[in-house]
Amino acid sequence: MNLSKSKYCDAVQCNKLLWLEEHLPDQKKEVSNQSTLDNGTEVGKVAKDLFGKHIDIAFQEDLQRMIEDTKQALKHDNVVITEASFFYQDNFCSVDILVKNNHDIEIYEVKSSTEMKDIYLDDIAYQVYILLHLGYSIKKATIVYLNSNYVRKGELELTKLFHMEEVLDIVLRKQEEVKRKIGEIDSCINQQKELEQEIGMHCVHPYECPYFEYCTRNLPVNNIFQMRGMQNRSKFKFYQQGIYLYQDLLQEDISWKLKQQIEFELYDKRPIVNKEKIKEFLNTLSYPLYFLDFETFQQPIPMYDGVKPYMQIPFQYSLHYIEKENLDLKHQEFLAAADMDPRRSLAEQLVKDIPLNVCVLAYNMSFEKTIIKNLAYLYPDLSNHLMNIHDHIQDLMIPFYNRDYYTKDMHGSYSIKYVLPALFPNEPSLNYHNLDMIHNGSEAMNSYANLKTLSEEEQILVRKNLLKYCGLDTYAMVKIWEKLKQVVDE
Ligand code: SF4
Repeated sequence: MNLSKSKYCDAVQCNKLLWLEEHLPDQKKEVSNQSTLDNGTEVGKVAKDLFGKHIDIAFQEDLQRMIEDTKQALKHDNVVITEASFFYQDNFCSVDILVKNNHDIEIYEVKSSTEMKDIYLDDIAYQVYILLHLGYSIKKATIVYLNSNYVRKGELELTKLFHMEEVLDIVLRKQEEVKRKIGEIDSCINQQKELEQEIGMHCVHPYECPYFEYCTRNLPVNNIFQMRGMQNRSKFKFYQQGIYLYQDLLQEDISWKLKQQIEFELYDKRPIVNKEKIKEFLNTLSYPLYFLDFETFQQPIPMYDGVKPYMQIPFQYSLHYIEKENLDLKHQEFLAAADMDPRRSLAEQLVKDIPLNVCVLAYNMSFEKTIIKNLAYLYPDLSNHLMNIHDHIQDLMIPFYNRDYYTKDMHGSYSIKYVLPALFPNEPSLNYHNLDMIHNGSEAMNSYANLKTLSEEEQILVRKNLLKYCGLDTYAMVKIWEKLKQVVDE
């Protein structure tokens, strides 16, 4: 097997992870989505412009050709090469950006993250190991990653957009470790017998392992890893003490919410309906009553003014509303055109659709409030109205967060994606699985971000499904609110 940067990093996380990748790849469950990979590619492309003119070594299935192309490019005395590729004793790497100044080499590893992580040091240490053994003189090894505080104003300022952290000293000190690890991988990767490896924090850090389900397949049902609301660190700590069954956890010092969840799961308890508290919450609402939900997308590289890397940019909302008690439910919606900054037109429409001083319900309101606050900051002429909406938002999540309404089927969660099916198990019209194409926020986000790449016909279809998805979010809120009213009257 040829080792690569990503395989080496897999093995740094866990040898068995790499073993499973090689021997039982069918057992893998998807944990990261395509957008993470797309982000990496996009950030990589922009980072190359930090270095001006460069020679790009095109990817080829035949790695030997990439290595030969790199050798040709390195014949220049002063050159910047992207994806420069090297091979040393079964170890292969492509360097994101390599700068050659006469005999000195600088290497740059580009990450789409906004923070430095230890695993990046392992990644670049492996590259340095290969280049040092090939006889190159390395003067710099640098991690390039996004600056989360950068706010775009006019043209992109690449030197402000990226952090560059020089780590050569650290990775030189890691060279013995790299050598040892490569030897370890070599001795365990080809063995036919499955590697033995206990689960632990390495299963979720630095990345969520796609084989976790496989490695925990023999645990009995009702085990600690099925619990929501407990930190991974606590779960593994209990597990290492041999405490992982729900009934055993009941004897431990855990929060009342976790205990309650376990008791509901084990003893099939009757739902909690704290009528007084629910009534108290409902009494804080008033007509006209609006139900609001935004959809947003993120850009690692900010395309618009006032945007930071990965900031939530709203492109769509759904708004159901009831003007007076017993009047019909009405609906408004907004979905921005593709390939434009959606914020101004969305903000203008929002202040037309929501009058001043009305009660607005959101589910998990901190998200909607942040979006509106950012819009108010960006558009001073709309700020008063937007902040009026912001100040009148209330949170429909509260009765579920406080466990004033709780059923076994909520499985310890107060997210609308758990609360809704728990309250309406047999309502196909409230089931997100019955929607076409878009079933959750990340599918909506990716669909909108890719809209401009589609044909006109495809765009029409995606837009229709985006509207249906977001419409269901606020319709679901209306149904939940009605359910709350119904249970206090029963
Ligand atoms: S789940 Fe954990 S033990 Fe299993 S392969 Fe992944 S990291 Fe290793």
